[in-house]
Order: sequence, then C-alpha cells, then structure tokens
Amino acid sequence: MRALTSRWKAKRLSIGFVPTMGALHAGHGSLIKRAKRDCDKVVVSIFVNPTQFGPKEDLSRYPRPFSADKKLCASLGVDAIYHPSVKQAYPDGFGTLVEPPARLTEVLCGKFRPGHFKGVATVVLKLFETVNPDRAYFGEKDYQQLTIIRRMVHDLDLTVQVVGCPTIREKDKLALSSRNAYLSPAERAAAPLLHQALDAARRQAETGRGRPAGIERLAKKLIRRIPGARIDYASLVDARTLAPAQRLSGRLRLLAAVRVGRTRLIDNLPVSC
Ligand code: AMP
Repeated sequence: MRALTSRWKAKRLSIGFVPTMGALHAGHGSLIKRAKRDCDKVVVSIFVNPTQFGPKEDLSRYPRPFSADKKLCASLGVDAIYHPSVKQAYPDGFGTLVEPPARLTEVLCGKFRPGHFKGVATVVLKLFETVNPDRAYFGEKDYQQLTIIRRMVHDLDLTVQVVGCPTIREKDKLALSSRNAYLSPAERAAAPLLHQALDAARRQAETGRGRPAGIERLAKKLIRRIPGARIDYASLVDARTLAPAQRLSGRLRLLAAVRVGRTRLIDNLPVSC
C-alpha cells in the first residue's frame, strides 16, 4: 500500500482516503464520491478493527461481505482497497495505543464503550501512516469519532486534511449503517423514530426557549416510543468540544444512542440556536 501511494506522490497526484469497516452502503459511497471529486486517487480501507470492539460487542458477527464491497468500490472508481489482516495490522507484541483526551472519549458513546475511541484513534493513525493521504473523509453519522479524529490530527501535527461528510439516510430518515442489517422487520419499522425524536427535540431547541436538560428529556421521551428501546444517552452538547450545552445558544449538537434488541443505533443532528 505504501509503495503504491509513494509512486502516486512522486507523480504529484493527490490522494483521498476513506477508512471503513466494510459492509459498504450508500453512506460509505457518499464519502467515496466526495473523495473522487476532490482527489486524483482514492483509497478505501476495509478493516474490522478488533481494538475498537469491547469484549461483549459484535466483533465476530460484524458483516464482512468482501466481494460485494469490492464490486461497489470498482463501480465508484476506487483506485485501491487496503484490506490488511488482523495479524498484519497488529503483529505479535503490539502494544502502543493513541489516547485522545478523556473529555472527548469518556462522554456520550465513550461512557458505554470503554476503550473504543482509543482503538479508533490508534487504527486511524496507523492507516494514515500507511496510506499517507492528502485528505481523509469521515461521516458526521459518527460525530464523536469525527471530533476525536480532528483533535488527534491537530494535536499530533498530522498533515492530512479531515473532511466531514453529511449523514446519508434511508427514505424514512433512518441513518444508513452496516449494523441496520441486524434489525428484525419490527425493529426496522420502529427505528426511524430515533431520527424523528432528535428532529423534534432539535426544532424545540432552536426556538431558544427552555434549557438543555428539557431538550434532552424531550428527546428521550420520544425515543422511548421505540418498543423495547434502552437509551444509552440523549445529549445536547457544544458542537466543537462535546461539553454539555450550558444554554440554548450557539453551535450545538444533539446526539443519541439507543439499543433496540441486539442492535445499537446512533444518530445526531446539528442544532443552531
Ligand atoms: P464504518 O464502516 O461504520 O466504520 O464507517 C466508515 C465511515 O463511513 C465513517 O467515517 C462513518 O462515519 C461513515 N458513515 C457510516 N455511515 C454513514 C452514513 N449513513 N452517512 C455518511 N457517512 C457514514
């Protein structure tokens, strides 16, 4: 991979990079299309990264439809797929981890997935080193991840430019996710209530009346309409720092995670007051 991108660099070709765990869908597709527009060459990585999964999480059952992924990449004009094995990525003796600041990793999803963002930051730094991209594309769907990657790039003086891309949704506004495949038909039918709840709470917040806690209560009340929903969190935070919103003003973000059956759904929306 590194030899290939070095040859491209020698020819002064710009490189766009889209890191993924595979099971590609139109959300990943939108990142690839954006990279194609911006850059001469596009690399997609497909790697289900074990260091970002907790012991009780879905690492072994995470979907790995590699041939379908390859076809989608080919149809979008991807120039190379980087698909390392776990042994290649983490040879025997591996032990160094990137530790982003706790104020970003121990809130929101980080409270429920200890160590997750350390694993994400570590693998993304390793991938950046191997691919050496000019620009890297990440979805706003994983807003906390995007924020943490931006912080890492800034803190470690990396030269890659991080590009955040909007969340791609189904017609009923459910955010596309590889994990949606786990939903039963009944769960799938109820899942769009997550976006509806966030959207209603966002509209209420944007009136500027009330307090952040009231907005979070409203979001939770509406999310509970999903049968059997177990809410991890619904939080209104500062869009840049992820600190709890103190009042309904400025650039905020409303994020939520809910477990429905065996599936964990996340979503978020911008809130401008
Ligand atoms: P994943 O394969 O889940 O690790 O995701 C790889 C990249 O695709 C991440 O930057 C995600 O934020 C992004 N992504 C996943 N789902 C969507 C979506 N529905 N819309 C836009 N980007 C997405």
